[in-house]
Amino acid sequence: MSKIPLSSSHLGGNELKFVNDAIRKNQVTTYGENVNNFQNDLENYLNNDVYIACLSSGTSAIHLALVQLGVGLNDEVICQSMTFSASANPIKYQGAIPVFIDSEFDTWNMCPKHLETAIKDRIKKGNIPKAIIIVHSYGMPAKIDDLLQIANKYDIPVIEDAAEALGSTYKGKKCGTFGDFSILSFNGNKIITTSGGGAMVCRSKEDKEKTIFYATQARDKAAHYEHTAIGYNYRMSNISAGIGRGQMEVLNKHIALRRKMNAFYLDLFKKIDGITVMQELNKDYYSNFWLSCILIEKEKTGFTAEELRLALEKENIESRPLWKPMHLQPVFKDCDYYGNGESENLFKKGLCLPSGSNLLNNDIERIGNVIKGFIHLYI
Ligand SMILES: *Cc1c(COP(=O)(O)O)cnc(C)c1O
Repeated sequence: MSKIPLSSSHLGGNELKFVNDAIRKNQVTTYGENVNNFQNDLENYLNNDVYIACLSSGTSAIHLALVQLGVGLNDEVICQSMTFSASANPIKYQGAIPVFIDSEFDTWNMCPKHLETAIKDRIKKGNIPKAIIIVHSYGMPAKIDDLLQIANKYDIPVIEDAAEALGSTYKGKKCGTFGDFSILSFNGNKIITTSGGGAMVCRSKEDKEKTIFYATQARDKAAHYEHTAIGYNYRMSNISAGIGRGQMEVLNKHIALRRKMNAFYLDLFKKIDGITVMQELNKDYYSNFWLSCILIEKEKTGFTAEELRLALEKENIESRPLWKPMHLQPVFKDCDYYGNGESENLFKKGLCLPSGSNLLNNDIERIGNVIKGFIHLYI
């Protein structure tokens, strides 16, 4: 039986045309029409006076945001604990120190209460955090108003990690437009892909130019390559950007299909006591449902998320636990953490289910049957 993946690339049709154009025109480098047009497409899509610099990955975008915010050796950076490690790793690239914040239950993202507690405590200890990294996990917008209000109150810049949330909105405004710097990812498993790639969403033209400067080995304006800063090789290939242009044509369709997968799970579990499908808290939140996630209460169902995961795996259907919080990761074990165990609790009970926009009716039926069959062993 063929494998049903959690989330895989889903091509629209015109990707090859744009890739061919680049090759035919000999624009096989890190600039050219595809990069320019993909940047324009993204600016138009986000539609909020933003300036996009395409980069080689979402991770490199977070790194360059930290560089531009002046984060250096032993500076403290606040970061959401329940996220993919790529949100936090670049803090270490800069020799800085991550301080992790727990989730709140409504969106699973950074808890405003714990954020403020942490800021106050760090300031009391003599360290003003240099930046706050907020994530929209699984496409669900974080409690942005509350979080930004706290960041503003203490005058700390925000890096918005919207890697999973392209197309999600909060109060009608697109995720990826809230941070001092915001980042997107076009990795192969994200809602749209360039095979590998990312982007920095900037608030000004100057920030965009600065981002491209750092991403292009920090070359000053001189024929002989003068350098007054340490640079990086972080630009997106014009070939990859061609894939991105094709993907932009189908982005809204992909979101609709991912939301349809979420509706499928909502229906599948609606009569099952002890299983809840992660939903938007209210009308302010609109998720692209990059991944559909459930929580399982063992006391009610008789089985754990891990047992369901293994049952799916046996049928060649991929599912995955939620992000293991960063403060529980061995590599970050020495970092400080503010919270009361919410993210740990979510991690224990949660499961991400196959959510791709390219799942066929047969696949969806197969998922439904395997899950129903497994549940009936218990209920
Ligand atoms: C995928 C992802 C990233 C990193 O993006 P890459 O393009 O894979 O480097 C960062 N943060 C989050 C939350 C992600 O899911």
